[in-house]
Parts: sequence; C-alpha cells; structure tokens
Amino acid sequence: MVMMKRKSPPREYVDGCSMSDIRIIRLSHRAGRDPRMSTHLGLTARVFGASEYILCGDNDQAILDTLNDVKERFGGKMIARHEQSPLGFLRNFIAKGGTAVHLTMYGVPYQDAILELPKDMPIAIVVGGAKVSREYYEMCQYNVAVGNQPHSEIAALAAFLERLNDGVSSPEEFTDGKLRINPSERGKDMIEEE
Ligand code: SAM
Repeated sequence: MVMMKRKSPPREYVDGCSMSDIRIIRLSHRAGRDPRMSTHLGLTARVFGASEYILCGDNDQAILDTLNDVKERFGGKMIARHEQSPLGFLRNFIAKGGTAVHLTMYGVPYQDAILELPKDMPIAIVVGGAKVSREYYEMCQYNVAVGNQPHSEIAALAAFLERLNDGVSSPEEFTDGKLRINPSERGKDMIEEE
C-alpha cells in the first residue's frame, strides 16, 4: 500500500514565517556563455518570491543591472548582487541558522524534502553551473532533486519554488514598480504609474 504524506501548509501560512527570506545562489556563472540562463534564473527567482539573487563565478554587471532594472520597472523586493565566495557565504548563512538546499539531479525527491524544511528560517537555494564541486553536496543540509534526471536549472528552480511557496508570488508583491500589468484575455494591458 502506498502511504500518502500530507502536504505541509505553504510557508506563507505558517505562523511566524514570511516568504521573504529565500536567497538563490547561482554558482559558476561564465560571462561569455551563461548570460541568458543566469538572467532567466534571476527572473524566475524574482517571480517565485526570492529576496536575493546571488550571482557567483564571473562578476557580470550586465546581468545584475538587468535584474535590478526589472525590479525598478516592475516592482518587487528581490536584490541581485555578486558574491566572490559562495562557500564562505553559505558557511556563514548556515552558522546563523539558515537552511541550505542544493538542487541536484542526484538528490532526494523535492516533494519529500520540502516537507522537512524548517518553515520559520531563511533558506538558501544553491543552483549549479557546468560542474558542482563536492563541497556543496557536503555543506548544504539538503541535496534535492526535481526528478532524478538531468534538465534545466531554471526548470528545477521554478518547480522547487512553486511547491515550496504553493504558487507564484501574488500581484501585491509587485505594486511598488512603475509599470503594472492588468491580466487580460487578449492583448497587453499595462499601466505606467505617475
Ligand atoms: N553536471 C552538473 C553537476 O555536477 O551537477 C549539472 C549541470 S546542470 C546543467 C546545472 C544545474 O541544474 C545543476 O547543478 C542543478 O542545480 C540543476 N539541475 C539539473 N537537473 C536537475 C534535477 N533533476 N534536479 C534538481 N536540479 C537540477
């Protein structure tokens, strides 16, 4: 008989927890090869409720500028920055009580891991690049797979955050921008705030 585990309440509904402290750590960015992937990863992080997008590897200012410009125009809280020492950042983050989750196709099923994650502490989600060193598998408290098959870091992050937060961020999270999109069945309905 298959035992069905009950899904835990989404983070936003758990007492004392906000969705606001989710950091995404993008490892090993290569300025010449990865700009599109790393930008789209940042956009995905933003719309699924991350507060910080931490680009590691090459310090590619154009990506950070693009993401911070999207925040300026469309609102939201996510800050994008570069980090020289992702391992140092993670060590410090974990020492302060944060939970580090490494997304990898070799990990345990994300549906199970999400049930175990502390609901009231900051979470750092580590997303790999071309090659992820052993240290990340050892340092992160969770190595989590979105299916045990290779695919895209963007898809893995989107699926993980969608389940963690039980959906995408609500429009209220993005009311401080200059542009507001009104959902429309046809065409584009966008308002520019005064
Ligand atoms: N060979 C690399 C390695 O050493 O892990 C993986 C490269 S993959 C193109 C880039 C990133 O996508 C991975 O580091 C991981 O974060 C994410 N990824 C790919 N497939 C995944 C899966 N099935 N579950 C979770 N994350 C995945």
